[in-house]
Amino acid sequence: MSDVAANLTEIQQHIHAACARAGRSADDVTLIAVTKTFSADRVREAYDCGQRHVGENRLQEAESKIPLLPASLQWHYIGQLQRNKVRKVLPQFCLIHSIDSLRLAQYADEVARELGLFPQVLLQLNLANEESKAGFSADALRENWDSLLRLERLEIMGLMTVPPACDDPEQSRPWFRALRELRDELATLSETPMPYLSMGMSGDYPIAIEEGATHIRVGSAVFGKR
Ligand SMILES: *Cc1c(COP(=O)(O)O)cnc(C)c1O
Repeated sequence: MSDVAANLTEIQQHIHAACARAGRSADDVTLIAVTKTFSADRVREAYDCGQRHVGENRLQEAESKIPLLPASLQWHYIGQLQRNKVRKVLPQFCLIHSIDSLRLAQYADEVARELGLFPQVLLQLNLANEESKAGFSADALRENWDSLLRLERLEIMGLMTVPPACDDPEQSRPWFRALRELRDELATLSETPMPYLSMGMSGDYPIAIEEGATHIRVGSAVFGKR
């Protein structure tokens, strides 16, 4: 078995164990293999093991791989989204995880209308208000919520976050829990279900699943060190 095959098998076991601990179904967790910095050949290894969801955080890098790989791969956009990339990102990605401001959301909505699309998106939260990270603070999201709901083209499927870096994955748990609670709060306010929670990376995805993650973004645990 290749490393990628063995790694995917091991991750699936961890996903099932975390779901069992949380009383959840493993069918409700989508593993996104994060392929940034890894070649199309490595991505194909994952594809050959049945992996269908992949994530990239740069448009240019994704565009260099997409034509080389089967069309049945589902590409997720997980990186910071610049305005000048929106027009190309919307048609090529199944889910955009990184809508990080009202301004960007409004612009993406406008472009989606021009292109005749109804893109599925997540709102990215910067829950710890880190200088180095993009995303809504919890309060900014509450303030902008009505305006976001008025956007007719964007289908807001849920929330995404990257918690502060830490050594002990348990330290991510309160951030994951806070994301779920914020989703519950906004969903109740507006009767917008927002079923998706994109949270958890190589170091902490089992904990994210225990706290309700529906999409985990896992790179190095699948493909090795970058
Ligand atoms: C790179 C990246 C990941 C994956 O990180 P790993 O630690 O390699 O699993 C997940 N989410 C985002 C937003 C990333 O940029």
